[in-house]
Amino acid sequence: MRAALLSVGTELLFGQITNTNTVYLSQKLNALGIDVMYHYTVGDNPERLAEMIETSFKDCDIVLTTGGLGPTQDDMTKEIACQVMGDELVMHDDILDYIRKRMLAYKAVMTDNNIKQALLPSRCRVFFNDAGTAPGFALDRAKPDCPGERQWIACMPGPPKEMTRMFEKSVQPWLEKLAEGCLFYREIMTFGIGESDLETVLFPVIDGQTDPTVATYAKDGQTSVRVASKRATKQEAEQAVAEMIGRIEELIGQYIYSFDGESYAKVVAELLIKKGLTVSSAESCTGGMFAAALTDIPGVSECFDRGLVTYSNRAKIEELGVKPDTLEKYGAVSEETAMEMAEGVMRASGSDIGISVTGIAGPDGGTEEKPVGLAYIGFVYNGKAECRKINRTLKDRNRNRNNAMLSMFDMIYKNIY
Ligand code: ATP
Ligand code: MG
Repeated sequence: MRAALLSVGTELLFGQITNTNTVYLSQKLNALGIDVMYHYTVGDNPERLAEMIETSFKDCDIVLTTGGLGPTQDDMTKEIACQVMGDELVMHDDILDYIRKRMLAYKAVMTDNNIKQALLPSRCRVFFNDAGTAPGFALDRAKPDCPGERQWIACMPGPPKEMTRMFEKSVQPWLEKLAEGCLFYREIMTFGIGESDLETVLFPVIDGQTDPTVATYAKDGQTSVRVASKRATKQEAEQAVAEMIGRIEELIGQYIYSFDGESYAKVVAELLIKKGLTVSSAESCTGGMFAAALTDIPGVSECFDRGLVTYSNRAKIEELGVKPDTLEKYGAVSEETAMEMAEGVMRASGSDIGISVTGIAGPDGGTEEKPVGLAYIGFVYNGKAECRKINRTLKDRNRNRNNAMLSMFDMIYKNIY
């Protein structure tokens, strides 16, 4: 099923409000397995509104509108939807009754404008509005060039609170039935393999595949693989996804850290808590990004003791007991320094695990011997001490720092899993 989202309101075109409705609906529809093909925004203008609905129907089965459902002069979505779908507005007594009761409850006076809100297309399906007075509705018509098929419009009010409530309570269940079948998906999170390499490795399972679909996405230095299936029942869809995930695991198992789209910090925090382990960190080039990502997770006090940002050599010596000799001989960005940092923070905190990072984030400051992107992650746990060298040729400071931070999580995960 293909959908277009149509936002109505001149204030959107003026940039006076941010179009949060579109973001919300896109996420919801995609999760339902409905493909969102277009985002349109149109002002409070009847001709352009009608034209945009018709344009959307050229290759979409459904148009979802928000805004312009209120009772005032500039609100015209209802009238135009009726006109395009070939229906007429009639008084719906049950809606009138509902609005009257609502007004009474709020001790407000019923106006002509309120009565007008009970005027809805004669053959529409009504979506009640618990958070306001303007009801929403859905209406269909035969597809002009293929009368056997139907096209749908669903109109919802503009205020996000009213719209989201209506969507969740009434529109979503209706859409689920309309879209038929059941969509199920899982999102495999990976680290340590780029998107193009991932596609190459997964080619045998992606090639020619229509259901389940396998798609890769890259975001914030991580690559995820979404496996989705749409079948008659949820059980069948789940089964198809599980089988595909089994094949993918055989190919890229060593890079996977989650099957449910979670962040690396969350996965590691949960694992630490499950194992009853504590961690403390000493960060240089990431300036506390590891600690920030970990403390984003609620309940992390169970596994996280402290995170030190030791940026200068002096801080590394004073806070972590890194030897001045080590810094002099090997430099701040070296395996030796990283290991003394990790040992230092483990000693100071008494945590089970000490993790550290020191690197050259760039964009400047690299040398031939120690280029931008070079970083060392130090890890100590239970008598084990290990260092990982990251050698990236990227000049981008943010990406280098983000990658170093993720590598810290990766190092913990791979060592305690
Ligand atoms: P009302 O009965 O309140 O007039 P309505 O359905 O006619 O509702 P609009 O008049 O178009 O909706 O918009 C009302 C308010 O809802 C806007 O002033 C704005 O604050 C909010 N709104 C409308 N559309 C959006 C949108 N796409 N994203 C976020 N907020 C929106
Ligand atoms: Mg309005």
